[in-house]
Amino acid sequence: MIVALKTKAYAAMAVKQPLRPFEVTRREPGVHDVLIDIKYCGICHSDLHQSRDEWGGSIFPMVPGHEIVGIVSRIGTSVSKYKVGDRVGVGCMIDSCRECDACREGLEQYCVNSPNWTYNSYEKDGKTPTYGGYSTIIVVDENYVVRIPEGLPMESTAPLLCAGITTYSPLAHWGAGPGKSVAVVGLGGLGHMAVKIASAMGAHVTVLSRSLAKAADGSRLGAEDFYATADAETFKKLAGKFDLIIDTVSADHDLNLHIGLLKRDGAMVLVGVPPESARLRAGSLISGRRTLAGSVIGGIAETQEMLDFCASKNVVADIELIPIEQVNEAYERMLTGDVRYRFVIDCASLA
Ligand code: NAP
Ligand code: ZN
Ligand code: ZN
Repeated sequence: MIVALKTKAYAAMAVKQPLRPFEVTRREPGVHDVLIDIKYCGICHSDLHQSRDEWGGSIFPMVPGHEIVGIVSRIGTSVSKYKVGDRVGVGCMIDSCRECDACREGLEQYCVNSPNWTYNSYEKDGKTPTYGGYSTIIVVDENYVVRIPEGLPMESTAPLLCAGITTYSPLAHWGAGPGKSVAVVGLGGLGHMAVKIASAMGAHVTVLSRSLAKAADGSRLGAEDFYATADAETFKKLAGKFDLIIDTVSADHDLNLHIGLLKRDGAMVLVGVPPESARLRAGSLISGRRTLAGSVIGGIAETQEMLDFCASKNVVADIELIPIEQVNEAYERMLTGDVRYRFVIDCASLA
């Protein structure tokens, strides 16, 4: 017998409308699926960009949320990795083609046929919209679910499913570690995770924030140095200093200025996705054989690796736990930089 799995959720019903209560029907778990009772869901700036259609192509109604942690409450008959009661997480993808080179190499985030994103996308059938974690239950194929290591608190682990992996992946790929000088631009949700993770990897970490308002937090999070980008002196003083820059900024800013802070052969990796196009001067790159790169989240295996790394180093996010009713206010506060450093929704408030 097919029983519809109804879940209370919050959705943006159309572009730029405040989120409001909505009901979603999840599919019955298939043989490879797990049904997850969602406990907590982080709020990523990408939720705001997409629910306001700042990148174009948004699908409404939209239930955002891709920093999901919860408990397995039912499993399909062929599920082998998880059992009822397990603590699990779901990040930005709920599936991918599984056949392209990227998928075969465990880089599902670069699936050439596009991953099936957790929301604002479609299920494998290509027509059923996906709905994210601002809800009480979700059904996901076990291969796109990760395990929350013992000892990590669920609510402050939720942001690792996007902010954590999005910063861990480029830090690992570009070799952050002892002897490497890493700058993190923008101290928000991604930025504060980049600082914690780069520091745990053993790198020398510098924060570049618009002002010095969060300077005291910088050292607590693991940074050695903290500079204001609003101060023109910063760009003179730090010229040519960094092996790696992780740019998490969510709005338009001058890339050329920041590239000038790289050493010869250094790399600046964009993870922030401002809606505007950036202007790039070739001179910024060619003087110093510098690289400008980009990176999107991480693969499923790497997400598990990141969680295990964070558990071993006691790294979680600094969060402000909110009931779902405060989600619209949280978006406004995120826009003004008034978040230290990630809002997380207590999904019990949806029940
Ligand atoms: P967030 O918490 O709002 O942090 C963004 C930070 O950017 C702010 O804290 C602020 O840092 C800085 N900033 C904001 N406006 C700025 C401006 N006009 N000029 C200079 N700096 C500014 O956002 P988030 O959740 O960390 O997300 C950051 C970006 O990454 C978003 O664009 C998001 O869509 C993107 N993202 C990408 C991926 C990926 O896979 N590549 C994954 C997740 C998110 P200060 O106050 O310290 O200056
Ligand atoms: Zn995100
Ligand atoms: Zn693929």
